[in-house]
Amino acid sequence: MSLIVKPFDPWRSPLCTCPSKYVVHPYTGCGHGCLYCYASSYIKNFYSPRPKKFSEIVFVRGLGRVPPGSVIELSTSSDPYTPPEGELKLTREVITKVLASGHKLLITTKSSLVVRDLDILTRYRGRVAVAMTITTLNQEIASVMEPGAPPPAERLKAVRKLSQAGIPVLVRLDPVVPLVNDDAGDIYKLVIEASKAGAAQITGSTYKARLDSLHRLSKAFPQVASELRDIYREGERIGGYLYMDKKKRLEYMKIVREAAIAAGLAFHTCREGFPELSSKGFSCDGSLLIGRSTFPAKA
Ligand code: SF4
Repeated sequence: MSLIVKPFDPWRSPLCTCPSKYVVHPYTGCGHGCLYCYASSYIKNFYSPRPKKFSEIVFVRGLGRVPPGSVIELSTSSDPYTPPEGELKLTREVITKVLASGHKLLITTKSSLVVRDLDILTRYRGRVAVAMTITTLNQEIASVMEPGAPPPAERLKAVRKLSQAGIPVLVRLDPVVPLVNDDAGDIYKLVIEASKAGAAQITGSTYKARLDSLHRLSKAFPQVASELRDIYREGERIGGYLYMDKKKRLEYMKIVREAAIAAGLAFHTCREGFPELSSKGFSCDGSLLIGRSTFPAKA
Protein backbone atom coordinates (compact mmCIF):
# COMPACT_ATOMS: atom_id res chain seq x y z
CA MET A 1 0.00 0.00 0.00
CA SER A 2 1.35 3.44 -0.90
CA LEU A 3 2.08 6.13 1.63
CA ILE A 4 -0.15 9.14 0.92
CA VAL A 5 -1.83 12.02 2.75
CA LYS A 6 -5.61 11.67 3.08
CA PRO A 7 -8.41 13.73 4.65
CA PHE A 8 -9.18 12.42 8.14
CA ASP A 9 -12.19 10.12 8.17
CA PRO A 10 -13.84 9.68 11.59
CA TRP A 11 -15.70 6.62 10.26
CA ARG A 12 -19.07 8.27 10.70
CA SER A 13 -18.56 8.54 14.45
CA PRO A 14 -21.34 10.87 15.61
CA LEU A 15 -19.24 11.77 18.67
CA CYS A 16 -16.01 12.74 16.92
CA THR A 17 -15.06 16.36 17.67
CA CYS A 18 -11.77 16.49 15.73
CA PRO A 19 -11.25 19.69 13.77
CA SER A 20 -10.80 19.10 10.05
CA LYS A 21 -7.36 17.66 9.30
CA TYR A 22 -5.38 15.25 7.14
CA VAL A 23 -3.73 11.98 8.13
CA VAL A 24 -0.72 9.91 7.13
CA HIS A 25 0.01 6.35 8.21
CA PRO A 26 3.63 5.41 7.49
CA TYR A 27 2.89 1.87 8.71
CA THR A 28 0.10 -0.64 8.32
CA GLY A 29 -0.47 -2.36 11.65
CA CYS A 30 1.32 -1.75 14.91
CA GLY A 31 3.69 -3.71 17.13
CA HIS A 32 2.70 -2.11 20.42
CA GLY A 33 0.12 -4.85 20.78
CA CYS A 34 -2.41 -2.92 22.89
CA LEU A 35 -5.17 -5.29 23.91
CA TYR A 36 -7.83 -2.59 23.64
CA CYS A 37 -6.81 -1.50 20.11
CA TYR A 38 -9.79 -1.16 17.78
CA ALA A 39 -7.77 -1.06 14.55
CA SER A 40 -7.08 -4.79 14.80
CA SER A 41 -10.75 -5.44 14.03
CA TYR A 42 -10.48 -4.09 10.49
CA ILE A 43 -6.80 -4.43 9.48
CA LYS A 44 -5.46 -7.91 8.78
CA ASN A 45 -2.36 -9.09 10.68
CA PHE A 46 -2.58 -5.87 12.59
CA TYR A 47 0.05 -6.70 15.19
CA SER A 48 2.72 -7.29 12.51
CA PRO A 49 3.60 -3.76 11.45
CA ARG A 50 4.90 -3.24 7.94
CA PRO A 51 6.01 -0.02 6.24
CA LYS A 52 3.95 1.43 3.44
CA LYS A 53 5.51 1.82 0.01
CA PHE A 54 7.11 5.24 0.00
CA SER A 55 7.64 7.23 -3.18
CA GLU A 56 9.00 10.68 -2.48
CA ILE A 57 7.53 12.09 -5.70
CA VAL A 58 4.04 10.73 -5.02
CA PHE A 59 4.10 11.77 -1.37
CA VAL A 60 5.30 15.33 -2.01
CA ARG A 61 2.81 15.73 -4.88
CA GLY A 62 0.03 14.69 -2.47
CA LEU A 63 1.24 17.20 0.12
CA GLY A 64 1.00 19.91 -2.53
CA ARG A 65 -2.73 19.20 -2.92
CA VAL A 66 -3.42 19.75 0.80
CA PRO A 67 -4.66 23.31 1.55
CA PRO A 68 -1.80 25.45 2.92
CA GLY A 69 -1.43 25.49 6.70
CA SER A 70 -3.50 22.33 7.25
CA VAL A 71 -2.93 20.02 10.20
CA ILE A 72 -1.51 16.66 9.16
CA GLU A 73 -1.65 13.96 11.82
CA LEU A 74 0.49 10.84 12.22
CA SER A 75 -1.22 8.42 12.79
CA THR A 76 -4.83 7.60 13.64
CA SER A 77 -4.93 3.83 13.14
CA SER A 78 -1.35 2.75 13.82
CA ASP A 79 1.53 4.30 15.76
CA PRO A 80 4.07 6.30 13.72
CA TYR A 81 6.77 5.14 16.17
CA THR A 82 5.84 1.47 16.10
CA PRO A 83 8.94 -0.70 16.80
CA PRO A 84 10.30 -1.07 13.21
CA GLU A 85 10.57 2.73 13.00
CA GLY A 86 13.66 2.59 15.21
CA GLU A 87 15.52 1.07 12.29
CA LEU A 88 13.54 2.13 9.22
CA LYS A 89 13.21 5.87 9.96
CA LEU A 90 10.24 6.13 7.61
CA THR A 91 8.26 8.35 10.00
CA ARG A 92 11.31 10.58 10.29
CA GLU A 93 11.32 10.97 6.52
CA VAL A 94 7.59 11.71 6.47
CA ILE A 95 7.65 14.36 9.21
CA THR A 96 10.59 16.05 7.51
CA LYS A 97 8.61 16.32 4.28
CA VAL A 98 5.39 17.42 6.00
CA LEU A 99 7.12 20.22 7.88
CA ALA A 100 9.21 21.33 4.91
CA SER A 101 5.94 21.67 2.95
CA GLY A 102 4.70 24.37 5.37
CA HIS A 103 1.88 22.34 6.95
CA LYS A 104 1.26 21.80 10.65
CA LEU A 105 2.13 18.46 12.23
CA LEU A 106 0.33 16.56 14.97
CA ILE A 107 2.04 13.38 16.18
CA THR A 108 -0.01 10.87 18.15
CA THR A 109 2.06 8.12 19.71
CA LYS A 110 2.77 6.07 22.79
CA SER A 111 6.47 5.75 22.07
CA SER A 112 9.34 7.64 23.62
CA LEU A 113 11.14 7.15 20.29
CA VAL A 114 9.53 10.41 19.19
CA VAL A 115 12.29 12.32 21.04
CA ARG A 116 14.81 10.95 18.53
CA ASP A 117 13.28 13.40 16.05
CA LEU A 118 13.48 16.46 18.30
CA ASP A 119 16.09 17.97 16.00
CA ILE A 120 13.46 18.23 13.23
CA LEU A 121 10.53 19.09 15.50
CA THR A 122 12.32 21.98 17.19
CA ARG A 123 13.33 23.44 13.83
CA TYR A 124 9.60 23.96 13.14
CA ARG A 125 8.55 24.52 16.76
CA GLY A 126 5.50 26.71 16.07
CA ARG A 127 3.93 24.16 13.74
CA VAL A 128 4.12 21.01 15.85
CA ALA A 129 2.29 19.35 18.75
CA VAL A 130 2.59 15.85 20.20
CA ALA A 131 -0.16 13.75 21.79
CA MET A 132 1.40 11.08 24.04
CA THR A 133 -0.86 8.27 25.22
CA ILE A 134 -0.34 7.15 28.82
CA THR A 135 -3.12 4.98 30.19
CA THR A 136 -1.56 4.10 33.55
CA LEU A 137 1.66 4.60 35.52
CA ASN A 138 1.37 1.05 36.81
CA GLN A 139 4.03 -0.85 34.88
CA GLU A 140 2.47 -4.20 35.77
CA ILE A 141 -0.85 -3.25 34.17
CA ALA A 142 0.83 -1.51 31.22
CA SER A 143 3.00 -4.53 30.43
CA VAL A 144 -0.12 -6.68 30.10
CA MET A 145 -2.35 -4.15 28.40
CA GLU A 146 0.27 -2.60 26.05
CA PRO A 147 2.93 -5.33 25.90
CA GLY A 148 4.96 -3.96 22.98
CA ALA A 149 4.92 -0.28 23.95
CA PRO A 150 7.63 1.56 25.93
CA PRO A 151 6.99 1.66 29.71
CA PRO A 152 4.88 4.58 30.98
CA ALA A 153 7.90 6.04 32.81
CA GLU A 154 9.72 6.33 29.47
CA ARG A 155 6.74 8.05 27.92
CA LEU A 156 6.63 10.55 30.80
CA LYS A 157 10.31 11.29 30.26
CA ALA A 158 9.52 11.93 26.60
CA VAL A 159 6.73 14.35 27.60
CA ARG A 160 9.26 16.23 29.73
CA LYS A 161 11.88 16.39 26.98
CA LEU A 162 9.38 17.53 24.37
CA SER A 163 7.85 20.23 26.54
CA GLN A 164 11.28 21.43 27.69
CA ALA A 165 12.13 21.80 24.02
CA GLY A 166 9.08 24.04 23.51
CA ILE A 167 6.83 21.47 21.82
CA PRO A 168 3.25 21.56 23.21
CA VAL A 169 2.26 18.14 24.53
CA LEU A 170 -1.11 16.61 25.23
CA VAL A 171 -1.36 13.44 27.31
CA ARG A 172 -4.11 11.05 26.27
CA LEU A 173 -5.55 9.00 29.10
CA ASP A 174 -7.15 6.81 26.49
CA PRO A 175 -8.71 4.44 27.12
CA VAL A 176 -9.94 4.17 30.66
CA VAL A 177 -10.84 0.48 30.84
CA PRO A 178 -13.32 -0.24 33.65
CA LEU A 179 -11.92 -2.45 36.42
CA VAL A 180 -8.44 -2.39 34.86
CA ASN A 181 -6.95 1.13 34.91
CA ASP A 182 -9.88 3.07 36.36
CA ASP A 183 -8.68 3.66 39.93
CA ALA A 184 -9.39 7.33 40.71
CA GLY A 185 -6.24 7.71 42.84
CA ASP A 186 -4.09 6.30 40.03
CA ILE A 187 -5.75 8.63 37.52
CA TYR A 188 -4.97 11.62 39.75
CA LYS A 189 -1.33 10.53 40.09
CA LEU A 190 -0.96 10.10 36.35
CA VAL A 191 -2.39 13.55 35.64
CA ILE A 192 -0.17 15.19 38.29
CA GLU A 193 2.93 13.54 36.82
CA ALA A 194 1.89 14.61 33.31
CA SER A 195 1.50 18.16 34.57
CA LYS A 196 4.91 18.10 36.29
CA ALA A 197 6.42 16.84 33.04
CA GLY A 198 5.03 19.90 31.25
CA ALA A 199 1.90 18.62 29.51
CA ALA A 200 -0.58 21.34 28.55
CA GLN A 201 -3.70 19.23 28.20
CA ILE A 202 -5.27 15.92 29.15
CA THR A 203 -7.66 14.16 26.82
CA GLY A 204 -9.76 11.41 28.35
CA SER A 205 -11.69 8.63 26.71
CA THR A 206 -13.31 5.42 27.87
CA TYR A 207 -12.71 2.03 26.28
CA LYS A 208 -14.92 1.43 23.26
CA ALA A 209 -15.21 -2.30 22.77
CA ARG A 210 -15.06 -4.38 19.62
CA LEU A 211 -15.55 -8.11 20.00
CA ASP A 212 -11.89 -9.00 19.42
CA SER A 213 -10.51 -6.44 21.89
CA LEU A 214 -13.07 -7.38 24.56
CA HIS A 215 -12.03 -10.99 24.16
CA ARG A 216 -8.31 -10.10 24.52
CA LEU A 217 -8.93 -8.01 27.64
CA SER A 218 -11.13 -10.70 29.20
CA LYS A 219 -8.42 -13.28 28.63
CA ALA A 220 -5.63 -11.09 30.01
CA PHE A 221 -7.62 -9.98 33.09
CA PRO A 222 -9.69 -13.09 33.96
CA GLN A 223 -10.47 -11.81 37.46
CA VAL A 224 -12.64 -9.01 35.98
CA ALA A 225 -13.69 -10.68 32.72
CA SER A 226 -17.27 -11.45 33.54
CA GLU A 227 -17.99 -8.04 35.09
CA LEU A 228 -16.27 -6.30 32.18
CA ARG A 229 -18.42 -8.17 29.66
CA ASP A 230 -21.56 -7.32 31.65
CA ILE A 231 -20.65 -3.62 31.67
CA TYR A 232 -20.47 -3.60 27.88
CA ARG A 233 -23.52 -5.84 27.46
CA GLU A 234 -25.52 -3.27 29.41
CA GLY A 235 -24.05 -0.35 27.46
CA GLU A 236 -24.96 1.07 24.09
CA ARG A 237 -23.76 0.71 20.49
CA ILE A 238 -22.48 3.94 18.93
CA GLY A 239 -20.94 4.09 15.45
CA GLY A 240 -20.04 0.38 15.40
CA TYR A 241 -18.51 0.32 18.92
CA LEU A 242 -19.84 -0.90 22.24
CA TYR A 243 -19.82 1.90 24.80
CA MET A 244 -20.43 1.71 28.53
CA ASP A 245 -23.69 3.33 29.54
CA LYS A 246 -23.65 7.10 29.48
CA LYS A 247 -23.83 7.54 33.26
CA LYS A 248 -20.72 5.43 33.86
CA ARG A 249 -18.81 7.17 31.06
CA LEU A 250 -19.72 10.55 32.49
CA GLU A 251 -18.50 9.49 35.93
CA TYR A 252 -15.12 8.42 34.52
CA MET A 253 -14.71 11.56 32.44
CA LYS A 254 -15.55 13.74 35.44
CA ILE A 255 -12.77 12.05 37.43
CA VAL A 256 -10.22 12.73 34.70
CA ARG A 257 -11.47 16.27 34.22
CA GLU A 258 -11.31 17.08 37.93
CA ALA A 259 -7.75 15.79 38.08
CA ALA A 260 -6.76 17.84 35.02
CA ILE A 261 -8.34 21.06 36.24
CA ALA A 262 -6.83 20.57 39.73
CA ALA A 263 -3.42 20.22 38.07
CA GLY A 264 -4.01 23.39 36.03
CA LEU A 265 -4.34 21.59 32.70
CA ALA A 266 -6.87 21.90 29.91
CA PHE A 267 -9.21 18.95 29.45
CA HIS A 268 -11.10 17.42 26.55
CA THR A 269 -12.96 14.20 25.95
CA CYS A 270 -12.54 12.04 22.82
CA ARG A 271 -15.60 10.47 21.16
CA GLU A 272 -17.61 10.69 24.35
CA GLY A 273 -19.89 13.68 23.96
CA PHE A 274 -20.12 15.74 27.17
CA PRO A 275 -19.05 19.04 25.52
CA GLU A 276 -19.73 20.77 28.83
CA LEU A 277 -16.68 19.04 30.33
CA SER A 278 -14.19 20.29 27.75
CA SER A 279 -12.02 23.39 28.15
CA LYS A 280 -12.86 26.16 25.69
CA GLY A 281 -10.33 26.86 22.95
CA PHE A 282 -8.86 23.33 23.00
CA SER A 283 -9.61 20.32 20.81
CA CYS A 284 -9.75 16.62 21.63
CA ASP A 285 -6.77 15.74 19.43
CA GLY A 286 -4.39 18.54 20.47
CA SER A 287 -4.27 20.25 17.10
CA LEU A 288 -5.30 23.57 18.70
CA LEU A 289 -2.12 23.45 20.81
CA ILE A 290 -0.05 23.98 17.68
CA GLY A 291 1.54 27.40 17.59
CA ARG A 292 0.63 28.26 21.18
CA SER A 293 3.25 28.96 23.79
CA THR A 294 0.84 29.84 26.59
CA PHE A 295 -2.07 27.78 27.75
CA PRO A 296 -4.77 29.85 29.46
CA ALA A 297 -6.13 26.80 31.29
CA LYS A 298 -2.79 26.58 33.12
CA ALA A 299 -2.92 30.19 34.30
S1 SF4 B 1 -0.21 2.01 19.84
FE1 SF4 B 1 -2.22 2.55 19.02
S2 SF4 B 1 -2.30 1.58 17.01
FE2 SF4 B 1 -0.64 0.59 18.15
S3 SF4 B 1 -1.59 -1.22 19.06
FE3 SF4 B 1 -1.66 0.44 20.57
S4 SF4 B 1 -3.69 1.40 20.28
FE4 SF4 B 1 -3.27 0.14 18.43
